[in-house]
Amino acid sequence: MEKLKKIALIAHDGKKQEIVEWALKNKDVLKNFKLCGTGTTAKRIEEYTGLTVEGFMSGPLGGDQQIGAKVAEGEIGFIIFLCDPLTAQPHDPDVKALLRIAVLYNVPIATNIATADYVITSNLLKFN
Ligand code: PGA
Repeated sequence: MEKLKKIALIAHDGKKQEIVEWALKNKDVLKNFKLCGTGTTAKRIEEYTGLTVEGFMSGPLGGDQQIGAKVAEGEIGFIIFLCDPLTAQPHDPDVKALLRIAVLYNVPIATNIATADYVITSNLLKFN
């Protein structure tokens, strides 16, 4: 059987509350997957949901790029990336790079809650 791929969770500061609430709402589904995320997002989700989330570096310190590398290596099956459209990000090139690598490897990447809801309830969410 193919190895189960991970779900990656990333949220900019202005979106952290939203991703925590979303993770709480979807805890019963998320607990069946391996989860990973950028440093602060991963820690926050762990604290509030009790789910285990493998944490990479914080986004501005290279976390987005670490997740991009995992996408390229075939380890990620779905990315939830709640970008803040109202705040300039110092690591904007890394954000764009992650979006590009997700498109390149045909990995679904939800940049808002509506899309995350569609993907998390999809029958295709099996990764194998
Ligand atoms: P953070 O990074 O989870 O460490 O805050 C997210 C980001 O800004 O990309």
